[in-house]
Amino acid sequence: MTVMPEQIIRLVKATNHFVLMTHVHPDGDALGSLLGLAEILESLGKRVFRYLEEPVSDLYCFLPGCELTSTDLGELADFVAAAHGDVASIALDCGDAERLGREQERLLAIRPLVVIDHHRGHRDFGDVYWVDPKRSSTGEMVYELVETLHVVPSTTSAFNLYVAIVTDTGLFRYENTTSRTMRIAAELLELGVRPEEATGLLYDNYSLQRLRLMEQVLATLELHAGEQLAAIRLTTVMLESCGATVGDAEGFIDYPRSLRTVKVAVLFKESDERAGSVSMRAKGECDVAQVAALFGGGGHRNAAGFRYVEMDHAQVRADLLLALQTSLERNAAEE
Ligand code: 5GP
Ligand code: MN
Repeated sequence: MTVMPEQIIRLVKATNHFVLMTHVHPDGDALGSLLGLAEILESLGKRVFRYLEEPVSDLYCFLPGCELTSTDLGELADFVAAAHGDVASIALDCGDAERLGREQERLLAIRPLVVIDHHRGHRDFGDVYWVDPKRSSTGEMVYELVETLHVVPSTTSAFNLYVAIVTDTGLFRYENTTSRTMRIAAELLELGVRPEEATGLLYDNYSLQRLRLMEQVLATLELHAGEQLAAIRLTTVMLESCGATVGDAEGFIDYPRSLRTVKVAVLFKESDERAGSVSMRAKGECDVAQVAALFGGGGHRNAAGFRYVEMDHAQVRADLLLALQTSLERNAAEE
């Protein structure tokens, strides 16, 4: 476990304006950490700009404070200008500068930039960084920052941090869940978070479009490598026929992953005629972050992904399945 750099605390104390940012297509950890930290900084009298490239997806619009996020670059520029140099930015849950999205150059120019992240294979960027792949979630790291600042989080910021931890640990199921994670979660409950409310809003709150999409996506299930490799796919035609968006597919990958024989699950998501993204999940041996890196992506040992443009979907599928089979065979040979 790494120690939080003192510099982060000094910078947070000394600065009055913060621009918070995270990775594109933010998940529960990205949004929960960003919204939780934003409110905590405001409770210290700081002014905060919650920047997102796209509006918060339907799945997470229940998060307290998500209406305060902005995708407006003009507003962002005005905020920075009005700070007269008394400004810092904080990138949360973002494994490399590329993942900041289309506006990365503009965002990277807001300095000093603090980076708080827990991705394995993190590629350093920014001026001060605290990166710890042993932490379950960025939410857990933000909680430690808050403790060090001697702030007692409000119930709503505790709720956001709880959502961050719950989503990145798969409801405290994954190996990244430590006794420390559980202790922090317990403290968040003591601050007034109701676990059934958080998980109800996360997992019993879906649209009908999502369920219709799931029917079609699960029907594409293919098994390879003696049923150790399971793949499903989502096409733009399916999205159109259900009135759903790619964001509605969050969590679908847990179904192929749940099969007894499966060691690696893959979800192929088409977003355009020649563009898409891929999610991978592993149980145990196979390091999917390593495989994702071969395709220009990254992530964690057990959860990784990548995006592609100007490529043939079928070719990407064939290349990745081959790479995963090779990785599984290599692991089997080492056993
Ligand atoms: P998901 O499958 O939920 O989209 O992503 C799982 C994990 O894979 C993320 O937490 C992130 O670490 C990583 N990941 C997904 N897509 C990309 C990508 O395009 N680039 C990189 N570097 N990592 C990704
Ligand atoms: Mn995370």
